[in-house]
Amino acid sequence: MQTLLVATGNAHKVEEIRSVLGKRFRVVSQKDVGVRLDPEETGATFAENASIKALAWARHLSSGSGQSWPDWVLADDSGLEVDVLGGAPGVHSARFAYLGTGRSGNAPDAENNTRLLEELARFPVERWTARFRCVLVLVPVRPGIPDGVYGRDVRSYDGVCEGRIQSQPAGAGGFGYDPLFVPKGETRSLAELGASVKNRISHRAQALGALLIGLNREG
Ligand code: IMP
Repeated sequence: MQTLLVATGNAHKVEEIRSVLGKRFRVVSQKDVGVRLDPEETGATFAENASIKALAWARHLSSGSGQSWPDWVLADDSGLEVDVLGGAPGVHSARFAYLGTGRSGNAPDAENNTRLLEELARFPVERWTARFRCVLVLVPVRPGIPDGVYGRDVRSYDGVCEGRIQSQPAGAGGFGYDPLFVPKGETRSLAELGASVKNRISHRAQALGALLIGLNREG
């Protein structure tokens, strides 16, 4: 079975990806390989940031020698887009609460959720439509091959989960904005719906489904 490294420090993302891809790949995390790379996410889109993360890892791995590297690197960049906020927090989802405060790094989930409700308070709740978006970038690891080769090897898959924001957080599952996000057609938040439902309907699940279809087609 081929090994796939998930290029993230977010253990929730690793678990969600493992639960969908676990039959096809041996899914390992940064923690498992004992290396932590934290490239700056300077992109303006989820796709750019996912590529930055995947390529940083692929380059790092292909320049190594004598170690048992994974066969693939998979990066996830994802976030929440709220319509009345013009698509915010978007690529700033992980650090939303720190925007404009001078603080750097990712903010705690609870602070991001509080900031979101504060920003939404001036709009009627009926207008709090939103979606989660996920872009996955998959790159094969080719030991010893120079950088340039990666350009044509990059494969990208998108997923979207439509829904709305509710006015109170609810539920203990998932992570991030899950306690505030109610998927379309549901009455409970993603955090209340739990892992098995989330791994079927989420933006990440959609992108992972596209990845599996793509791999079956392209090999
Ligand atoms: P990233 O790790 O830079 O891609 O940031 C992703 C951020 O978007 C997370 O920190 C969460 O705030 C949010 N996010 C992404 N996916 C999810 C999800 O599945 N549920 C809840 N929040 C999410």
